[in-house]
Amino acid sequence: MKISHIEHLGIAVNSIEEALPYYENVLGLKCYNIETVEDQKVKTAFLKVGDTKIELLEPTCPESTIAKFIEKKGVGVHHVAFAIEDGVANALAEAEEKGIRLIDKAPRKGAENLNIAFLHPKSTLGVLTELCEK
Ligand code: ZN
Repeated sequence: MKISHIEHLGIAVNSIEEALPYYENVLGLKCYNIETVEDQKVKTAFLKVGDTKIELLEPTCPESTIAKFIEKKGVGVHHVAFAIEDGVANALAEAEEKGIRLIDKAPRKGAENLNIAFLHPKSTLGVLTELCEK
């Protein structure tokens, strides 16, 4: 697979409203989009950092995977997302062929209308890894 850059870092927060003052007033970043992804039970906020982004993830209900993550590990870095240049479907096939456990067998739509898919952290040295493309 061909990765061009880190597309974003996903960070789990209890509340976007409470988290934004740190990112905007202390770090000086600017939130340009807030969006709820219903099927993932998550509200997201995006801030640009050069070519990459920070994606804040707030659970919208207790069954959200983000709520479960926070319960288990606390708030903080949740996943790393790489921008794939030659297609997420190809990258998934390649990863699977190399013995990596997939969470998504096929790309699906994520926030910002990206095609996304996740690799399982059990086969990626503990880092939940997202592959995405425009
Ligand atoms: Zn993400």
